Amino acid sequence: MKPMEIGVFLASLGIHDPLKAVEKTAELGMKIVQMPMMEAKWYEKEGVARLRETLAQNGVTCTGACAGFVDERYDDIETVTRTVGLTNPKTAPGRVEWTKRVADFAKAIGEPVVTAHVGVVPLDRKSEQYRHLVRATQEVADYCASIGGTFALETGQETAEHQLAFLEDCSRDNLKVNFDCGNMILYGSGKPIEAVEVLRDYIVHTHVKDGRWPTEPGKLGEEAPLGEGEVGIDGYVAKLKDIGYRGPLVIEREAGADRIGDIKRAKELLERLVGGGEDRGQVTGNRGQETGGR
Ligand code: MG
Repeated sequence: MKPMEIGVFLASLGIHDPLKAVEKTAELGMKIVQMPMMEAKWYEKEGVARLRETLAQNGVTCTGACAGFVDERYDDIETVTRTVGLTNPKTAPGRVEWTKRVADFAKAIGEPVVTAHVGVVPLDRKSEQYRHLVRATQEVADYCASIGGTFALETGQETAEHQLAFLEDCSRDNLKVNFDCGNMILYGSGKPIEAVEVLRDYIVHTHVKDGRWPTEPGKLGEEAPLGEGEVGIDGYVAKLKDIGYRGPLVIEREAGADRIGDIKRAKELLERLVGGGEDRGQVTGNRGQETGGR
């Protein structure tokens, strides 16, 4: 994989069958994908074999997998807080085990990198809810470490400063960040480019998505095609270059009636912004050290 290689979050294509979605990825001229939450059969031995075969046949490699959980909902901030991630002590044990399984899956089909929303990090760092989330996150990270992998937390559901404090409290070398610039806006959690600076030492993977700030308290903002929202994609890519980021740029598009068209245009925009610049391709040797193997 080249530094800042452009790819797609497989579910964003809106194609239910992941094998067909991988074929479409190749047809669109992209060589990397991140695997989304899929039907259970794809995590079984035969599903993994078919995915591996289709990826290889299409010259597509996998940057890792996203762990999603049944019954998560993203309607508004309150619902996200209640249903997403590992924050609920009742559902956390099963979700922690599932995340470990997705880590195994990610390793089997490509890179042992699992990303997830661990849930809205409680504000009080001394609270039992906060300490619970630290323990659950550490358990996943420790499992990932045992298979040579990375656990990358998605951004946006809290400020970058609070996420940084959480990462430091978890204190695990293989606990990193999947930076989603769109989410920073959609959740009203802070300006994405400033957030990159705060989290710069942790970013190993990115979701490239755009959106508009929330207009009502408690609601999420609205997603937009890349370049049409309020992220400032040109400044965002420039900032990633500035911090020496070498990992993937994974386009994510979760709304809209023309997903494929939006993804095509997003790819073209990113190609212009990333460019064939002088520092692409020369830095591969540093990547492992800078980003823990990714
Ligand atoms: Mg995302």
